[in-house]
Amino acid sequence: MKYCYCPNCDNLRPKSWYLRSRCERCQGECIEFDVKRSTFGILMYFFYALAGILVVLYMGKNIWHSDWANIISSVPQQTFLILMIAFLVIGLVFSFIDVGKMNVEAEKVRISLKQDKTKKSP
Ligand SMILES: [Zn+2]
Repeated sequence: MKYCYCPNCDNLRPKSWYLRSRCERCQGECIEFDVKRSTFGILMYFFYALAGILVVLYMGKNIWHSDWANIISSVPQQTFLILMIAFLVIGLVFSFIDVGKMNVEAEKVRISLKQDKTKKSP
């Protein structure tokens, strides 16, 4: 995930791809840096993908009435829905943990950038 740090007003925020690399407070140039996703980020994608597969299977069986979706016909519909929601919730929880971990990493970068700045300008 990309972060944007403004040395002027010490403002740190996650940067979305559609946002320019400007500080939202002072419109100054901000320093961009990347923080890698944690293992939880990978788990998040995994559970979202699982939920996605279940959604497709569910629609295949109940909406499109496709033959390939018959592999889930032995699973009770209620169990299936619970699994679908559970995978989504687990994915969401992992994404929260992941963002939390990335924010901690970003904060470390912010501190080192701040120290760099104070070193350069005595
Ligand atoms: Zn700023």
